[in-house]
Amino acid sequence: MSEKEFIPRIAMSIHAHPDDQEFTVAGTLAKWAQAGCRIVSVVITSGDAGSNDAGKTTTDKPALARRRAEEQLAANAILGIQETVFLGYPDGELEATLSLRHDLTRLIRLHKPEAVVIGDPHGVFYGNGYINHPDHRAAAQAALYAVFPSAGTRLIFTDLLEAGYEPHNVSRLYVHGAEKSDTWVDIGDTIEVKIEALKKHVSQLGDWDPEKMIREWAAEEAKEHGMEYAEAYKVMMLGEEE
Ligand SMILES: [Zn+2]
Repeated sequence: MSEKEFIPRIAMSIHAHPDDQEFTVAGTLAKWAQAGCRIVSVVITSGDAGSNDAGKTTTDKPALARRRAEEQLAANAILGIQETVFLGYPDGELEATLSLRHDLTRLIRLHKPEAVVIGDPHGVFYGNGYINHPDHRAAAQAALYAVFPSAGTRLIFTDLLEAGYEPHNVSRLYVHGAEKSDTWVDIGDTIEVKIEALKKHVSQLGDWDPEKMIREWAAEEAKEHGMEYAEAYKVMMLGEEE
């Protein structure tokens, strides 16, 4: 089976903010969902710092968090994702703590994903114009080490074991935004769905239409790989699929 045809039975997408998943991996997730994969979308922070409107203060944060959760649910519905988990960490203040790794380990043991999709914990500078948000790196690092070793090692976080969460080994880890990608997923059939899902994040996009940029990014990833549109990953093969 070629890489681009691999479809996990259960996948988990783990990201820091509402909208991260739609900007990055949503074409792949929609493709997997259409092929019958059950997907769990994990949003670590509430996104409650996602506004620079003058006049916004701390009292506006709960309403913004609610709005962003609604936008994420609408986006996930478009992608074919039925299950969304909001962990509710404060936006803009995320660290790769043991507590966060514990939360993610619990979710991986509960849902038993075959594949987990995360960002790159190394990513600091993208091009000359974008410093990667530290929440993205913290989320990626905590998720990475929840996948390995915490989810599969029986005696890490034994409170989880005592609560009935048996160890689970993730087979494949998909890392987007990696400096050296090795796997390109053809999203030619789902780029429209990706764009539609992204557009649900109205609180972040305002009047801006992201379609042109998303198509340019996906075309850039696809060129030299015989596709029109792609999402690129570094894929870690951590065990044999059954
Ligand atoms: Zn983000």
